[in-house]
Amino acid sequence: MHNTTNNEQTEQIERIERLKQEKNAIVLAHNYERAEVRAVADVVGGSSGLTRAANNTSADMIIVCGVDFMAEMASVLNSDKKVITPVQNVICPLARRLSRNDLNMAKKENPGAEVLLYMNSLADTIAMADCVCTAANAIPIAGAMGGDSPIIFGPDYGVTYYLRKRTEKEIITLSANGFCPVHHTILPADMIHAQELHPAAQVVAHPECRPEVQDRADYIGSTSGIARFCKESAETEFLVAADVGLSTMLRNEAPDKTFYPISEATICERMKAPTLAKVEEALVTERFQVTVPKEIADAARIPIERMLELS
Ligand code: SF4
Repeated sequence: MHNTTNNEQTEQIERIERLKQEKNAIVLAHNYERAEVRAVADVVGGSSGLTRAANNTSADMIIVCGVDFMAEMASVLNSDKKVITPVQNVICPLARRLSRNDLNMAKKENPGAEVLLYMNSLADTIAMADCVCTAANAIPIAGAMGGDSPIIFGPDYGVTYYLRKRTEKEIITLSANGFCPVHHTILPADMIHAQELHPAAQVVAHPECRPEVQDRADYIGSTSGIARFCKESAETEFLVAADVGLSTMLRNEAPDKTFYPISEATICERMKAPTLAKVEEALVTERFQVTVPKEIADAARIPIERMLELS
């Protein structure tokens, strides 16, 4: 039975690879995607890596295995190409947090400030920003922006806290700021309990985690930053405050080390929506194409390209 399943999956992967070649398509997958989906991806990474890949591709078709704002970003950077998602409307609630109205108000209240938006934002708000950033580059980007001007930052409360502690710049918090419903499930009590069970482990955390969780971490960074830190560290045991998929990925990539998710309940189900079958279907049917209206795309491209230049 198990062999039959393995054979089916191998055949499915072969079909996907063939389709990619025939259609000159690439698959981009976030680190939080299912392992089998990451296996057929041409690029696997966090938001930063995926943005760079979307900006550099010569493919005619881009299959984005991630959430809505990632597909929009790929479309903004590739308005002449087909950008397709395997599942329709995979929404990141954080990315829908800010409205254009919220940003307009913040700009009016702070006329001398520049707007830096966390990439987990939709194109219509990114179009109003001076620059965007990801968890991987928020600190250098804030440092490189706008001389001494204050920076309006959002929409994630945890990343705002992380950035504030690490930059000299004045950071203005958007009153409409929200949080990631997945990283927010990790409570300080979970962390204390995990540390009691594994006292020798290093604690690594994503900056979308609550401030009290960040304060107990030895390292805070993006999914790719966490992966790099754990692999390069002389330590061998890690408690991971992020989606459980990151611990699974790290166990495969650094089999001589031990990774424990702080909470088994920390799962971004939205990122797990694409399956191999859906990726194949997307390549065959070319359904669920993501397009951003030209006016919005033209304006949103500027802050995204600025991030690419500054980072
Ligand atoms: S982990 Fe949080 S921020 Fe990332 S896609 Fe899921 S809900 Fe959105």
